[in-house]
Order: sequence, then C-alpha cells, then structure tokens
Amino acid sequence: MNIAIVGSGLVGRVIALNLLKDGGHNITLFDKDTKEGVTSAGFTAAGMLAPFAELETAESIIFEYGKRSIELWRHLLREVGLFDGFQKRGTIITAHTQDVPELKHFITTLKRKIPEANEIEFMDSSKLEEIEPELAIHNNSFYIEKEGQVDSQRFIAFSTTYLDSIPNIIWRENTTVQKIEPNRVFIGDEVEEFDWVFDSRGLGAKEYFKDLRGVRGEVIWVEAKDVNISRPTRLMHPRYKIYIVPRENGCEGIELEYCKDCKIAQTSGAKRYIIGASEIESEDMSDISVRSTLELLSALFTVHPNFGEARVVNSETNCRPAFRDNLPRIENSKGLTRINGLYRHGYLLAPAVVEKALNEGIRKI
Ligand SMILES: Cc1cc2nc3c(=O)[nH]c(=O)nc-3n(C[C@H](O)[C@H](O)[C@H](O)COP(=O)(O)OP(=O)(O)OC[C@H]3O[C@@H](n4cnc5c(N)ncnc54)[C@H](O)[C@@H]3O)c2cc1C
Repeated sequence: MNIAIVGSGLVGRVIALNLLKDGGHNITLFDKDTKEGVTSAGFTAAGMLAPFAELETAESIIFEYGKRSIELWRHLLREVGLFDGFQKRGTIITAHTQDVPELKHFITTLKRKIPEANEIEFMDSSKLEEIEPELAIHNNSFYIEKEGQVDSQRFIAFSTTYLDSIPNIIWRENTTVQKIEPNRVFIGDEVEEFDWVFDSRGLGAKEYFKDLRGVRGEVIWVEAKDVNISRPTRLMHPRYKIYIVPRENGCEGIELEYCKDCKIAQTSGAKRYIIGASEIESEDMSDISVRSTLELLSALFTVHPNFGEARVVNSETNCRPAFRDNLPRIENSKGLTRINGLYRHGYLLAPAVVEKALNEGIRKI
C-alpha cells in the first residue's frame, strides 16, 4: 500500500515502525518541522512508563494499555538499534515527613483502583538503602517494581536515523499539512492521494478535533557528578510534585563537545537527570518560567542535597495533546486512521494504542 503518515512525532514513528514490520508498504512521513523531531512533544517527554503511578489521576484503561506498551517497547527500541534505551527497574515514590499523609493517600488511591497495586512495597530508609542507597535519607517511600522508562530523546534520534535509512520510506520534512481526509492529504493548494492516511499530528490536529487542547509542560535537564540515583523517582508534595528521571546510559562518558545523539552540549563525567514536569492549562510554548524553574529545582534539592552542585544544561517546553477526558482517541474509517489525545501518557500508551488502531483499521481490510 501507498501510505501517508502525517506528523512524525512519537505516534507517527510508532505507526511507521509497526507498518514496516507488516511489510510491503511504501510510506511517506510528513512533518511541519525537520525529521529530527526535536520540536515534537515526544522529544520533550521524560519517557516514564508509569502505569501504576499515573492511575492517581487516570482511568484503569491507561493501566491496561500501559502494561501492553511496556511489553512492546523493548521490540520497538531493538528495531531502531537502541539496545540500552529501555529500563524496567521500578520507580521510587517518596515524600518528606510532613507530607507522608499525601504519599499514603496516593498509594491508597492506586490500591482502590486496581488490585495489582497491592504489590507496591513500603520502604523505610534501611530497605531503600538496599536498592537506592543515596535516597536512604528518606524514611517513607514506596517501590513500584513494574514500572520503567524509555530514553525518549534517544528514541527520537535513533528512529530518525533508522527510518531515514529505509528505502521505501520518504520523509517530507518542513511540510505543513492543512487538512486530511480518507485517502487524501492537503498541502497548500495541492491534494495528494494515498491508499491509507494516518493523522498523528498531535496538537497540530486541532483543525479537525475541535475538543483537542494543549497542556503546557516544562522539564529541566541537570547533570550531577555527585548524585547516583538509578531509578525514576517521584516526590509527592502538596504543591510541588516532581519526578527525577535518570538517563542511565544517556550521554555519560561521551567525550564530545556536543553529544551526537541529542545535540546538547556535555559536561564530562556527570550523570544526567530530567526533572519534570509542570502541568499548566495553557498552549503557550515559550521558554520555562521562573516560577516553574524555582518549583522544580527547589523540590529537586530536597530529594538529594548534592543536586545543589548539579549543572542545569537544558530546559524544554512543550504541550501535551489532550481531550477533555484526558483519554486517547482512535478514529478509523476506510482509508484514514486518526490517533490523538495521548496527553501525559504518550510513551506509556503509544505502542498499545497504535497496535489497536492498526488491528481495527488498516490490518482488517
Ligand atoms: C513536559 C512533558 C513531559 C512528558 N513526559 C512523559 C512521560 O514521562 N511519559 C509519557 O508516557 N509521556 C510523556 N509526555 C507525553 C508525550 O510526550 C505525548 O503524549 C506524546 O508526545 C504525544 O505524541 P504525538 O505523536 O501525538 O504528538 P507529538 O509527539 O507532538 O508529534 C506530533 C508531530 O506532528 C507534527 N505536526 C503537527 N501539525 C502538523 C501539520 N499540520 N503538518 C505536518 N506535521 C504536523 C509535529 O511537528 C510533531 O512532530 C510528556 C509530555 C510533555 C510535554
């Protein structure tokens, strides 16, 4: 089939990788920006795969999709040659003593929503010392074993290189698509015909989805020589909830002025952490605000005092595409599939949501 994928951010890439596995298709990827994908929400994301922790504010369908996606990610990453971009070593959730009721309420909410949450293990500082020694200053934590992360920035970088190397993929970068219909893509005054079209424009699909909104999120990248945390860690706090996502293999030890994968300048020998994320009902994509910077970094400093000497190497702002119910939406008709609304769960959901969309759409005919 002659297929168009409009929007080569996170969802578009996952669609392309799945269609390649099916074989026999010619695929055209359209994006309004460059194929590097650095302006997509998929690049800004921390890549946390947290089906349990996300349940605090999400429905159990997110949990089911999340479990399936965790199974699928390993294969997708292998496909693009990213063999160390997946980690499933669990998440630590902690809180300061005065915020322990908040933490307990959080865990109770998860347990009420799904029986599997009963496996979540309480850890006092001596237990935490066994798995994350540098966090042992915290006496009230929980360990969610079956969560993980994808190295999102490297997924975007590796998938660019991989998809670009496939002869039956054409990448039409810097090409804004105005409108999409079954079998048709509208670019300026031109209309192009395809056997099937995928609409994976994220927030760029507002032209069609009138109830789509953007939810602003800001993250900060720091590099710390004297902090060694190996698992994604969440701090529960009545106002400043943060997560800290270590990039285990990230750019560590690469002696380049600029890392070739993520194009960001390096401070040699330090480990990188992504600190996130604000959640603001706004579609403003401008740089991180002073307020968010202060909130994220002050909360960070309280998790591990050595973060005080970390270096802030980057910040990113983007908007999560979301519907009113914050749930993903798949629309299938002959010759057209639309996938959108992955909100703050893009990495957690994309492989499973795309699998479902393909099975109920193009693979069914
Ligand atoms: C700060 C932040 C942190 C996050 N952290 C996590 C996390 O830890 N875990 C998790 O699971 N999810 C996370 N997410 C959510 C995740 O990033 C999104 O759900 C996901 O990227 C949505 O994927 P998408 O493909 O729909 O959109 P995008 O990744 O934004 O891709 C859309 C693409 O479409 C292109 N496009 C748009 N309009 C047009 C047009 N008219 N013509 C051509 N191309 C167009 C864009 O250029 C872009 O490349 C986070 C998001 C943010 C903002």
